Amino acid sequence: MSSTVRRSSRLAASTSLAATAVVEAARTSCVTVTAVAQSSSSRAGQTRGVQYQASVSEDDIADALAGGRQKKRARRASASSDLTSLEAESSKVAPAKKTKKPRKKADVVEFTPEDFPKRPDLPWKIGPHVSAAGGVQNAVLNAASLGATAFALFLKSQRKWDSAALTPESIDSFKKRLDEFGYDCRHVMPHGNYLINLGNPDDDKRAKSYSCFVDDLKRCEQLGLLLYNFHPGSSVGQGTMENSLALIAECINRAHKETDRVITVIETMVGAGSVVGSKFSEIGQIIAQVEDKSRVGVCIDTCHVFSAGYDIRTKEGWDATMAEFERDIGLNYLRGMHINDSKAPLASRKDRHENIGLGHLGLRAFAHIVNDARTRDIPLILETPAFAPAAGAQLRPGEGWDVWSTEVRVLQRLAGAYERADETVDLEAWTDEIRAAVKKASAKAADDAAAKKQRVKKRAKKAKGEDEDEAGDDSCEEL
Ligand SMILES: [Zn+2]
Ligand SMILES: [Zn+2]
Repeated sequence: MSSTVRRSSRLAASTSLAATAVVEAARTSCVTVTAVAQSSSSRAGQTRGVQYQASVSEDDIADALAGGRQKKRARRASASSDLTSLEAESSKVAPAKKTKKPRKKADVVEFTPEDFPKRPDLPWKIGPHVSAAGGVQNAVLNAASLGATAFALFLKSQRKWDSAALTPESIDSFKKRLDEFGYDCRHVMPHGNYLINLGNPDDDKRAKSYSCFVDDLKRCEQLGLLLYNFHPGSSVGQGTMENSLALIAECINRAHKETDRVITVIETMVGAGSVVGSKFSEIGQIIAQVEDKSRVGVCIDTCHVFSAGYDIRTKEGWDATMAEFERDIGLNYLRGMHINDSKAPLASRKDRHENIGLGHLGLRAFAHIVNDARTRDIPLILETPAFAPAAGAQLRPGEGWDVWSTEVRVLQRLAGAYERADETVDLEAWTDEIRAAVKKASAKAADDAAAKKQRVKKRAKKAKGEDEDEAGDDSCEEL
Protein backbone atom coordinates (compact mmCIF):
# COMPACT_ATOMS: atom_id res chain seq x y z
CA MET A 1 0.00 0.00 0.00
CA SER A 2 1.73 3.08 -1.19
CA SER A 3 -0.59 5.58 0.26
CA THR A 4 0.34 8.65 2.09
CA VAL A 5 -1.54 8.92 5.27
CA ARG A 6 -2.52 12.42 5.95
CA ARG A 7 -4.11 13.42 9.15
CA SER A 8 -6.39 16.26 8.66
CA SER A 9 -8.29 18.09 11.28
CA ARG A 10 -10.54 19.55 8.63
CA LEU A 11 -11.46 16.09 7.48
CA ALA A 12 -11.86 14.96 11.01
CA ALA A 13 -14.47 17.60 11.44
CA SER A 14 -16.31 16.76 8.29
CA THR A 15 -16.06 13.02 8.34
CA SER A 16 -18.25 11.01 10.57
CA LEU A 17 -15.90 9.03 12.70
CA ALA A 18 -16.43 5.75 14.40
CA ALA A 19 -18.38 7.38 17.15
CA THR A 20 -20.92 9.00 14.92
CA ALA A 21 -21.00 6.89 11.81
CA VAL A 22 -23.71 4.59 13.00
CA VAL A 23 -25.85 7.42 14.24
CA GLU A 24 -25.51 9.08 10.90
CA ALA A 25 -26.25 5.84 9.08
CA ALA A 26 -29.40 5.43 11.11
CA ARG A 27 -30.37 8.91 10.03
CA THR A 28 -29.65 8.38 6.39
CA SER A 29 -30.67 4.74 6.35
CA CYS A 30 -28.06 3.63 3.98
CA VAL A 31 -24.81 1.88 3.48
CA THR A 32 -21.38 3.16 4.13
CA VAL A 33 -17.77 2.38 4.03
CA THR A 34 -16.54 5.27 6.02
CA ALA A 35 -12.91 6.07 5.72
CA VAL A 36 -12.08 6.27 9.34
CA ALA A 37 -9.11 4.74 10.95
CA GLN A 38 -9.48 3.21 14.33
CA SER A 39 -6.62 4.15 16.57
CA SER A 40 -3.50 5.83 15.43
CA SER A 41 -0.44 4.53 13.62
CA SER A 42 -2.09 3.86 10.30
CA ARG A 43 0.87 3.78 8.06
CA ALA A 44 1.46 2.27 4.70
CA GLY A 45 1.46 -1.49 4.95
CA GLN A 46 -0.33 -1.61 8.25
CA THR A 47 -3.83 -2.78 8.75
CA ARG A 48 -6.28 0.01 8.80
CA GLY A 49 -9.27 -0.31 10.95
CA VAL A 50 -11.76 1.10 8.53
CA GLN A 51 -15.14 1.67 10.02
CA TYR A 52 -17.65 -0.01 7.78
CA GLN A 53 -21.19 0.81 8.63
CA ALA A 54 -23.53 -2.07 8.13
CA SER A 55 -26.23 -2.09 5.60
CA VAL A 56 -28.92 -4.63 5.50
CA SER A 57 -31.33 -5.21 2.74
CA GLU A 58 -34.77 -6.58 2.83
CA ASP A 59 -33.13 -9.68 1.48
CA ASP A 60 -30.49 -9.65 4.15
CA ILE A 61 -33.16 -9.55 6.73
CA ALA A 62 -35.32 -12.13 5.08
CA ASP A 63 -32.46 -14.52 4.52
CA ALA A 64 -30.16 -13.90 7.37
CA LEU A 65 -32.18 -12.79 10.29
CA ALA A 66 -34.84 -14.78 11.97
CA GLY A 67 -36.73 -11.87 13.49
CA GLY A 68 -40.23 -11.80 12.06
CA ARG A 69 -40.81 -8.17 12.97
CA GLN A 70 -37.72 -7.01 11.12
CA LYS A 71 -38.74 -9.12 8.16
CA LYS A 72 -42.18 -7.56 8.02
CA ARG A 73 -40.77 -4.08 8.42
CA ALA A 74 -38.32 -4.71 5.61
CA ARG A 75 -41.04 -6.09 3.36
CA ARG A 76 -43.11 -2.99 3.99
CA ALA A 77 -40.13 -0.88 3.01
CA SER A 78 -39.61 -2.86 -0.15
CA ALA A 79 -43.25 -2.59 -1.14
CA SER A 80 -42.98 1.15 -1.26
CA SER A 81 -39.57 1.61 -2.75
CA ASP A 82 -37.16 0.27 -5.26
CA LEU A 83 -34.07 0.67 -3.14
CA THR A 84 -34.82 -2.40 -1.13
CA SER A 85 -31.21 -3.04 -0.35
CA LEU A 86 -30.88 0.33 1.26
CA GLU A 87 -34.31 1.01 2.63
CA ALA A 88 -34.38 -1.63 5.29
CA GLU A 89 -31.19 -0.41 6.88
CA SER A 90 -32.88 1.43 9.66
CA SER A 91 -34.46 -1.75 10.91
CA LYS A 92 -31.06 -3.20 11.62
CA VAL A 93 -28.88 -0.32 12.65
CA ALA A 94 -28.12 -0.49 16.33
CA PRO A 95 -29.85 2.00 18.59
CA ALA A 96 -28.01 5.29 18.50
CA LYS A 97 -27.29 5.47 22.20
CA LYS A 98 -25.33 2.24 22.06
CA THR A 99 -23.10 3.37 19.26
CA LYS A 100 -22.48 6.84 20.59
CA LYS A 101 -20.03 5.32 23.00
CA PRO A 102 -16.66 6.47 21.76
CA ARG A 103 -14.21 3.72 21.07
CA LYS A 104 -10.57 4.61 21.18
CA LYS A 105 -9.28 7.89 20.01
CA ALA A 106 -9.85 7.84 16.28
CA ASP A 107 -7.51 9.31 13.72
CA VAL A 108 -8.61 10.05 10.23
CA VAL A 109 -6.83 8.46 7.33
CA GLU A 110 -7.21 10.01 3.97
CA PHE A 111 -7.10 7.34 1.31
CA THR A 112 -5.59 7.72 -2.10
CA PRO A 113 -6.62 5.96 -5.33
CA GLU A 114 -3.72 3.52 -4.88
CA ASP A 115 -5.42 2.12 -1.79
CA PHE A 116 -8.30 0.75 -3.83
CA PRO A 117 -8.69 -1.70 -6.73
CA LYS A 118 -7.60 -0.43 -10.11
CA ARG A 119 -10.71 0.38 -12.11
CA PRO A 120 -10.98 -0.86 -15.69
CA ASP A 121 -11.23 1.76 -18.40
CA LEU A 122 -14.41 0.54 -20.07
CA PRO A 123 -17.18 2.45 -21.85
CA TRP A 124 -19.75 0.89 -19.51
CA LYS A 125 -19.74 2.62 -16.12
CA ILE A 126 -20.86 0.33 -13.32
CA GLY A 127 -21.21 0.70 -9.56
CA PRO A 128 -23.59 0.52 -6.60
CA HIS A 129 -25.69 3.05 -4.75
CA VAL A 130 -23.25 3.66 -1.93
CA SER A 131 -23.66 5.37 1.38
CA ALA A 132 -23.09 9.02 2.02
CA ALA A 133 -23.24 8.52 5.77
CA GLY A 134 -20.90 10.88 7.51
CA GLY A 135 -20.95 13.29 4.59
CA VAL A 136 -21.41 13.03 0.83
CA GLN A 137 -17.63 13.03 0.42
CA ASN A 138 -17.52 9.51 1.86
CA ALA A 139 -19.58 8.18 -1.04
CA VAL A 140 -16.59 8.67 -3.32
CA LEU A 141 -14.38 6.49 -1.13
CA ASN A 142 -17.14 3.92 -0.77
CA ALA A 143 -17.41 3.63 -4.54
CA ALA A 144 -13.66 3.52 -5.08
CA SER A 145 -13.18 0.79 -2.48
CA LEU A 146 -15.48 -1.43 -4.58
CA GLY A 147 -13.78 -0.79 -7.90
CA ALA A 148 -16.89 1.02 -9.11
CA THR A 149 -16.70 3.25 -12.17
CA ALA A 150 -20.08 4.86 -11.45
CA PHE A 151 -22.10 5.34 -8.31
CA ALA A 152 -25.27 6.71 -6.79
CA LEU A 153 -25.89 8.31 -3.39
CA PHE A 154 -28.51 10.16 -1.42
CA LEU A 155 -27.89 13.85 -0.96
CA LYS A 156 -29.79 13.97 2.31
CA SER A 157 -31.98 11.71 4.38
CA GLN A 158 -34.22 10.00 1.86
CA ARG A 159 -37.19 9.75 4.16
CA LYS A 160 -37.25 13.12 5.89
CA TRP A 161 -38.61 16.39 4.61
CA ASP A 162 -35.91 18.51 6.18
CA SER A 163 -32.20 17.84 6.40
CA ALA A 164 -29.25 19.97 7.34
CA ALA A 165 -27.62 21.82 4.48
CA LEU A 166 -24.42 20.46 2.98
CA THR A 167 -21.46 22.03 4.72
CA PRO A 168 -18.85 23.94 2.70
CA GLU A 169 -16.23 21.43 3.95
CA SER A 170 -18.31 18.51 2.73
CA ILE A 171 -18.89 20.11 -0.67
CA ASP A 172 -15.23 20.94 -1.04
CA SER A 173 -14.09 17.47 0.00
CA PHE A 174 -16.61 15.77 -2.33
CA LYS A 175 -15.40 17.75 -5.32
CA LYS A 176 -11.75 17.17 -4.48
CA ARG A 177 -12.24 13.45 -4.05
CA LEU A 178 -14.26 13.16 -7.25
CA ASP A 179 -11.32 14.70 -9.01
CA GLU A 180 -8.61 12.82 -7.14
CA PHE A 181 -10.32 9.44 -7.59
CA GLY A 182 -11.07 10.14 -11.24
CA TYR A 183 -14.88 10.12 -11.30
CA ASP A 184 -16.67 12.03 -14.02
CA CYS A 185 -19.81 13.83 -12.85
CA ARG A 186 -21.67 12.23 -15.77
CA HIS A 187 -21.26 8.87 -14.04
CA VAL A 188 -22.56 9.92 -10.64
CA MET A 189 -26.33 9.85 -10.32
CA PRO A 190 -27.80 10.83 -6.95
CA HIS A 191 -31.17 9.37 -6.04
CA GLY A 192 -33.91 11.72 -4.90
CA ASN A 193 -35.77 11.78 -1.65
CA TYR A 194 -38.49 9.11 -1.45
CA LEU A 195 -41.16 11.41 -0.05
CA ILE A 196 -41.32 13.57 -3.14
CA ASN A 197 -44.52 13.20 -5.15
CA LEU A 198 -44.79 15.82 -7.84
CA GLY A 199 -47.92 14.16 -9.21
CA ASN A 200 -50.00 14.69 -6.07
CA PRO A 201 -53.18 16.61 -6.96
CA ASP A 202 -53.24 18.12 -3.47
CA ASP A 203 -51.69 21.59 -3.87
CA ASP A 204 -50.20 21.84 -0.38
CA LYS A 205 -48.69 18.38 -0.45
CA ARG A 206 -47.29 18.94 -3.92
CA ALA A 207 -45.80 22.26 -2.81
CA LYS A 208 -44.00 20.47 0.02
CA SER A 209 -42.69 17.85 -2.41
CA TYR A 210 -41.62 20.55 -4.81
CA SER A 211 -39.46 22.40 -2.30
CA CYS A 212 -37.82 19.12 -1.25
CA PHE A 213 -37.20 18.39 -4.95
CA VAL A 214 -35.65 21.78 -5.66
CA ASP A 215 -33.53 21.45 -2.54
CA ASP A 216 -32.17 18.15 -3.90
CA LEU A 217 -31.43 19.75 -7.26
CA LYS A 218 -29.60 22.63 -5.62
CA ARG A 219 -27.50 20.16 -3.65
CA CYS A 220 -26.54 18.50 -6.96
CA GLU A 221 -25.42 21.83 -8.30
CA GLN A 222 -23.47 22.64 -5.16
CA LEU A 223 -21.58 19.38 -5.67
CA GLY A 224 -21.02 20.03 -9.36
CA LEU A 225 -23.19 17.06 -10.33
CA LEU A 226 -25.13 16.85 -13.53
CA LEU A 227 -27.70 14.09 -13.03
CA TYR A 228 -30.52 13.68 -10.52
CA ASN A 229 -32.71 10.58 -10.52
CA PHE A 230 -36.19 10.65 -8.98
CA HIS A 231 -39.47 8.77 -8.90
CA PRO A 232 -42.09 10.53 -11.00
CA GLY A 233 -44.88 10.25 -8.43
CA SER A 234 -48.40 9.07 -7.98
CA SER A 235 -51.92 10.34 -8.45
CA VAL A 236 -52.63 8.93 -4.95
CA GLY A 237 -55.91 7.64 -6.33
CA GLN A 238 -57.24 11.14 -6.89
CA GLY A 239 -57.66 12.59 -10.33
CA THR A 240 -56.53 11.11 -13.58
CA MET A 241 -53.13 9.82 -14.60
CA GLU A 242 -53.01 12.56 -17.27
CA ASN A 243 -53.53 15.21 -14.63
CA SER A 244 -50.62 13.85 -12.57
CA LEU A 245 -48.36 13.67 -15.61
CA ALA A 246 -49.10 17.34 -16.31
CA LEU A 247 -48.45 18.30 -12.69
CA ILE A 248 -45.09 16.49 -12.73
CA ALA A 249 -44.08 18.25 -15.94
CA GLU A 250 -45.14 21.60 -14.50
CA CYS A 251 -42.96 21.04 -11.40
CA ILE A 252 -40.00 20.02 -13.56
CA ASN A 253 -40.40 23.18 -15.65
CA ARG A 254 -40.50 25.39 -12.57
CA ALA A 255 -37.53 23.62 -11.01
CA HIS A 256 -35.48 24.04 -14.19
CA LYS A 257 -35.99 27.78 -13.91
CA GLU A 258 -34.85 27.80 -10.29
CA THR A 259 -31.65 25.91 -11.06
CA ASP A 260 -28.92 26.18 -13.64
CA ARG A 261 -27.96 22.93 -15.29
CA VAL A 262 -28.84 19.75 -13.43
CA ILE A 263 -30.69 17.16 -15.51
CA THR A 264 -33.85 15.72 -13.95
CA VAL A 265 -33.82 11.98 -14.65
CA ILE A 266 -37.19 10.22 -14.32
CA GLU A 267 -37.04 6.60 -13.15
CA THR A 268 -39.21 3.85 -14.64
CA MET A 269 -41.49 2.37 -12.01
CA VAL A 270 -43.19 -0.95 -11.28
CA GLY A 271 -46.54 0.83 -11.29
CA ALA A 272 -48.19 -0.51 -8.18
CA GLY A 273 -51.37 1.33 -7.18
CA SER A 274 -51.59 4.77 -8.74
CA VAL A 275 -47.83 5.27 -9.21
CA VAL A 276 -47.01 6.72 -12.61
CA GLY A 277 -44.12 5.76 -14.85
CA SER A 278 -44.54 2.01 -15.34
CA LYS A 279 -45.16 2.53 -19.04
CA PHE A 280 -42.65 4.27 -21.27
CA SER A 281 -45.57 6.14 -22.85
CA GLU A 282 -46.38 7.81 -19.51
CA ILE A 283 -42.82 9.07 -19.14
CA GLY A 284 -42.95 10.16 -22.77
CA GLN A 285 -46.05 12.23 -21.96
CA ILE A 286 -44.24 13.99 -19.12
CA ILE A 287 -41.24 14.78 -21.31
CA ALA A 288 -43.49 16.08 -24.08
CA GLN A 289 -44.63 18.79 -21.63
CA VAL A 290 -41.14 19.70 -20.39
CA GLU A 291 -39.95 22.97 -21.90
CA ASP A 292 -36.18 22.53 -21.61
CA LYS A 293 -35.74 19.07 -23.05
CA SER A 294 -31.96 19.24 -22.66
CA ARG A 295 -32.51 19.00 -18.90
CA VAL A 296 -34.75 15.95 -18.67
CA GLY A 297 -33.81 12.29 -18.94
CA VAL A 298 -34.87 8.76 -18.05
CA CYS A 299 -33.37 6.04 -15.87
CA ILE A 300 -34.42 2.48 -16.75
CA ASP A 301 -34.56 0.26 -13.67
CA THR A 302 -34.26 -3.31 -14.96
CA CYS A 303 -36.15 -4.81 -12.01
CA HIS A 304 -38.94 -2.27 -12.37
CA VAL A 305 -39.43 -2.61 -16.12
CA PHE A 306 -39.41 -6.40 -15.85
CA SER A 307 -41.98 -6.39 -13.05
CA ALA A 308 -43.99 -3.87 -15.06
CA GLY A 309 -44.14 -6.31 -17.99
CA TYR A 310 -41.16 -5.56 -20.26
CA ASP A 311 -39.47 -8.90 -20.87
CA ILE A 312 -35.75 -8.13 -21.08
CA ARG A 313 -34.50 -11.66 -20.39
CA THR A 314 -33.37 -12.33 -23.94
CA LYS A 315 -31.48 -10.24 -26.45
CA GLU A 316 -34.62 -10.09 -28.58
CA GLY A 317 -36.69 -8.99 -25.59
CA TRP A 318 -34.15 -6.33 -24.64
CA ASP A 319 -34.03 -5.03 -28.23
CA ALA A 320 -37.83 -4.97 -28.42
CA THR A 321 -37.96 -3.05 -25.12
CA MET A 322 -35.42 -0.54 -26.37
CA ALA A 323 -37.42 -0.17 -29.58
CA GLU A 324 -40.46 0.72 -27.45
CA PHE A 325 -38.32 3.12 -25.45
CA GLU A 326 -37.21 4.78 -28.68
CA ARG A 327 -40.80 4.99 -29.93
CA ASP A 328 -42.41 6.27 -26.70
CA ILE A 329 -39.59 8.36 -25.23
CA GLY A 330 -36.52 8.59 -27.44
CA LEU A 331 -33.10 7.02 -26.89
CA ASN A 332 -31.44 10.39 -26.47
CA TYR A 333 -33.23 10.67 -23.11
CA LEU A 334 -31.60 7.55 -21.63
CA ARG A 335 -29.29 9.09 -19.01
CA GLY A 336 -28.79 6.20 -16.58
CA MET A 337 -29.88 2.75 -15.51
CA HIS A 338 -30.49 0.85 -12.31
CA ILE A 339 -29.30 -2.68 -12.92
CA ASN A 340 -31.04 -5.03 -10.52
CA ASP A 341 -32.21 -8.59 -10.88
CA SER A 342 -35.77 -9.31 -9.79
CA LYS A 343 -37.03 -11.70 -7.14
CA ALA A 344 -40.50 -11.36 -8.61
CA PRO A 345 -41.57 -12.75 -11.99
CA LEU A 346 -42.41 -10.90 -15.19
CA ALA A 347 -45.34 -8.47 -14.94
CA SER A 348 -45.76 -9.24 -11.24
CA ARG A 349 -45.97 -5.54 -10.33
CA LYS A 350 -43.73 -6.32 -7.37
CA ASP A 351 -40.64 -4.33 -6.54
CA ARG A 352 -38.25 -6.93 -5.19
CA HIS A 353 -34.59 -6.44 -6.04
CA GLU A 354 -32.30 -9.44 -6.29
CA ASN A 355 -28.56 -9.87 -6.75
CA ILE A 356 -27.32 -9.91 -10.32
CA GLY A 357 -27.93 -13.27 -12.00
CA LEU A 358 -29.80 -14.78 -9.08
CA GLY A 359 -33.32 -13.66 -9.90
CA HIS A 360 -35.83 -14.05 -12.70
CA LEU A 361 -33.73 -11.98 -15.09
CA GLY A 362 -30.50 -13.99 -14.89
CA LEU A 363 -26.99 -12.92 -15.85
CA ARG A 364 -27.78 -13.24 -19.58
CA ALA A 365 -30.10 -10.22 -19.39
CA PHE A 366 -27.28 -8.09 -17.97
CA ALA A 367 -24.79 -9.45 -20.49
CA HIS A 368 -26.91 -7.93 -23.25
CA ILE A 369 -27.13 -4.64 -21.45
CA VAL A 370 -23.39 -4.25 -20.87
CA ASN A 371 -22.64 -5.18 -24.45
CA ASP A 372 -25.06 -2.68 -25.93
CA ALA A 373 -23.64 0.55 -27.34
CA ARG A 374 -26.79 2.34 -26.17
CA THR A 375 -25.84 1.90 -22.51
CA ARG A 376 -22.28 3.18 -22.83
CA ASP A 377 -21.09 6.14 -20.86
CA ILE A 378 -24.12 6.39 -18.57
CA PRO A 379 -24.21 5.34 -14.90
CA LEU A 380 -25.32 1.71 -14.51
CA ILE A 381 -26.19 1.55 -10.83
CA LEU A 382 -26.59 -1.54 -8.69
CA GLU A 383 -29.32 -1.42 -6.05
CA THR A 384 -28.89 -5.03 -5.00
CA PRO A 385 -28.74 -6.58 -1.52
CA ALA A 386 -25.32 -5.92 -0.03
CA PHE A 387 -25.15 -8.29 2.98
CA ALA A 388 -22.88 -5.75 4.56
CA PRO A 389 -20.53 -6.37 7.48
CA ALA A 390 -21.77 -5.97 11.00
CA ALA A 391 -21.84 -2.48 12.43
CA GLY A 392 -18.55 -1.60 14.02
CA ALA A 393 -16.55 -4.29 12.23
CA GLN A 394 -12.96 -3.20 11.85
CA LEU A 395 -11.93 -3.99 8.32
CA ARG A 396 -9.51 -3.03 5.64
CA PRO A 397 -10.83 -1.13 2.61
CA GLY A 398 -12.90 -3.35 0.36
CA GLU A 399 -13.31 -6.07 2.94
CA GLY A 400 -16.78 -7.20 3.86
CA TRP A 401 -18.44 -5.95 0.70
CA ASP A 402 -17.76 -9.02 -1.34
CA VAL A 403 -21.24 -9.23 -2.81
CA TRP A 404 -21.12 -5.80 -4.38
CA SER A 405 -17.48 -6.04 -5.40
CA THR A 406 -18.16 -9.45 -6.97
CA GLU A 407 -21.17 -8.12 -8.87
CA VAL A 408 -19.18 -5.13 -10.08
CA ARG A 409 -16.26 -7.37 -11.11
CA VAL A 410 -18.47 -9.82 -13.00
CA LEU A 411 -20.34 -7.05 -14.82
CA GLN A 412 -17.08 -5.32 -15.72
CA ARG A 413 -15.75 -8.62 -17.06
CA LEU A 414 -18.91 -8.97 -19.14
CA ALA A 415 -18.87 -5.39 -20.39
CA GLY A 416 -17.85 -5.40 -24.03
CA ALA A 417 -16.94 -9.10 -23.86
CA TYR A 418 -19.12 -9.99 -26.86
CA GLU A 419 -17.50 -7.29 -28.94
CA ARG A 420 -14.08 -8.63 -27.97
CA ALA A 421 -15.31 -12.17 -28.72
CA ASP A 422 -14.04 -13.07 -25.27
CA GLU A 423 -14.05 -16.84 -25.08
CA THR A 424 -13.75 -16.89 -21.33
CA VAL A 425 -17.35 -15.71 -20.88
CA ASP A 426 -19.09 -18.34 -18.81
CA LEU A 427 -22.45 -17.05 -17.61
CA GLU A 428 -23.07 -20.05 -15.40
CA ALA A 429 -19.70 -19.97 -13.69
CA TRP A 430 -19.90 -16.20 -13.20
CA THR A 431 -23.41 -16.49 -11.77
CA ASP A 432 -22.03 -19.11 -9.39
CA GLU A 433 -19.33 -16.65 -8.39
CA ILE A 434 -21.99 -14.14 -7.33
CA ARG A 435 -24.07 -16.88 -5.71
CA ALA A 436 -21.05 -18.00 -3.67
CA ALA A 437 -20.37 -14.43 -2.52
CA VAL A 438 -24.02 -14.03 -1.49
CA LYS A 439 -24.02 -17.37 0.30
CA LYS A 440 -20.88 -16.53 2.23
CA ALA A 441 -22.01 -13.01 3.10
CA SER A 442 -25.52 -14.06 4.11
CA ALA A 443 -24.11 -16.80 6.34
CA LYS A 444 -21.81 -14.24 7.93
CA ALA A 445 -24.73 -11.86 8.39
CA ALA A 446 -26.72 -14.65 10.04
CA ASP A 447 -23.79 -15.43 12.35
CA ASP A 448 -23.39 -11.76 13.22
CA ALA A 449 -27.10 -11.47 13.95
CA ALA A 450 -27.03 -14.57 16.15
CA ALA A 451 -23.95 -13.30 18.01
CA LYS A 452 -25.61 -9.94 18.52
CA LYS A 453 -28.73 -11.62 19.86
CA GLN A 454 -26.58 -13.56 22.29
CA ARG A 455 -24.82 -10.42 23.46
CA VAL A 456 -28.12 -8.64 24.01
CA LYS A 457 -29.46 -11.63 25.92
CA LYS A 458 -26.33 -11.82 28.05
CA ARG A 459 -26.47 -8.12 28.84
CA ALA A 460 -30.14 -8.35 29.79
CA LYS A 461 -29.41 -11.33 32.02
CA LYS A 462 -26.52 -9.51 33.65
CA ALA A 463 -28.62 -6.40 34.24
CA LYS A 464 -31.37 -8.51 35.72
CA GLY A 465 -28.86 -10.22 37.99
CA GLU A 466 -27.55 -6.85 39.17
CA ASP A 467 -31.08 -5.69 39.87
CA GLU A 468 -31.73 -8.79 41.90
CA ASP A 469 -28.48 -8.29 43.79
CA GLU A 470 -29.47 -4.73 44.57
CA ALA A 471 -32.90 -5.89 45.65
CA GLY A 472 -31.15 -8.46 47.80
CA ASP A 473 -28.92 -5.79 49.35
CA ASP A 474 -31.92 -3.65 50.11
CA SER A 475 -33.67 -6.45 51.81
CA CYS A 476 -30.54 -7.10 53.88
CA GLU A 477 -30.42 -3.48 54.91
CA GLU A 478 -34.00 -3.66 55.91
CA LEU A 479 -33.29 -6.59 58.08
ZN1 LIG B 1 -35.52 4.70 -7.35
ZN1 LIG C 1 -34.17 1.98 -8.99
